[in-house]
Amino acid sequence: MAYDYAPFPYAPPAGLSHAEPRHRVVIVGAGPIGLAMAVDLALQGIATVVLDDNNVVSVGSRAICWAKRSLEICDRLGIGDRMLAKGVTWKVGRNFHKDNQVYAFDLQPDLGYKYPAFINLQQYYVEQYLIDRASEFPSLIDLRFLNKVIAHTDHGDHVTLNISTPDGQYTLEAEYYVACDGAGSATRERMQLALNGQSFDEHFLIVDVEMETSPFGDHTTPERWFWFAPPFHSGQSALLHKQPDNIYRIDLQLGPDTDPKEEATEAKVRPRIMAMVGNAPFRIDWMSVYKFRCAKLDRF
Ligand SMILES: Cc1cc2nc3c(=O)[nH]c(=O)nc-3n(C[C@H](O)[C@H](O)[C@H](O)COP(=O)(O)OP(=O)(O)OC[C@H]3O[C@@H](n4cnc5c(N)ncnc54)[C@H](O)[C@@H]3O)c2cc1C
Repeated sequence: MAYDYAPFPYAPPAGLSHAEPRHRVVIVGAGPIGLAMAVDLALQGIATVVLDDNNVVSVGSRAICWAKRSLEICDRLGIGDRMLAKGVTWKVGRNFHKDNQVYAFDLQPDLGYKYPAFINLQQYYVEQYLIDRASEFPSLIDLRFLNKVIAHTDHGDHVTLNISTPDGQYTLEAEYYVACDGAGSATRERMQLALNGQSFDEHFLIVDVEMETSPFGDHTTPERWFWFAPPFHSGQSALLHKQPDNIYRIDLQLGPDTDPKEEATEAKVRPRIMAMVGNAPFRIDWMSVYKFRCAKLDRF
């Protein structure tokens, strides 16, 4: 069943009609990082305003593998139990060359730890759980959807933010401005902070497929499978993960010389998935083509 991307409500912010008092902390971005920051600060009794230019959770499952340490942090935030209950716990990974298994690992549970090595859970669930959790702090977290930060000015002891909404623009002042606006951060660009690192040439197709019949065949326990040169995708690599709601994450290497727009179409993707899962019926839930980039700020 496709995820219900119900939009979050927008309300015209007070700053549109009169100057708001200077806020302690303004967070730009209600993705996993901005929401986690808001909840963590609320747990310390610190009030935040969270601004997001969008009004739905992440479209497409995007990040799915949550490691034990991340789960422990989510536990501190108060959403760990929900994630564990909904997520698919797995611990066995297998690597294949063509049809032959060449390596396997089994991540044994650590005694005394609450969380397993990994769960798989779509990013939209985690964002929804964080938003639900944030709503438990109505006097500390002021979540404003469809509020896009278009400029900011650093005055040393405070920051002024220019914000665009469906009802016009307004400004806010804050002692602290926390930029959680994602990989394409406009804040970072305005501050001329370069992300330095490496980009890789290979393209990868990422597809979430909903199907009743498990592509893991007789393996009833969820696992993570990786292939070098699989028989169904010659000369490339492939990765398979199970997510909740009978959604399977399939990641196929496409090579460097490919047109990402053309590849991310149902006409191109469907035969690739059929080569892998056979004639079992499936529905494509989400797809995207990406390249790896490994980069960081010089100083943080
Ligand atoms: C197509 C795609 C596939 C991915 N697949 C995977 C995967 O398979 N596995 C994995 O681990 N990770 C994956 N990722 C990465 C993962 O989604 C990110 O690491 C994660 O979302 C980062 O969280 P974040 O909160 O930093 O940023 P984001 O999730 O990007 O959130 C930033 C938020 O800031 C908002 N925003 C941006 N600019 C402004 C502005 N000016 N004003 C107000 N709000 C603003 C955005 O609307 C967004 O809600 C994928 C990402 C993409 C794009």
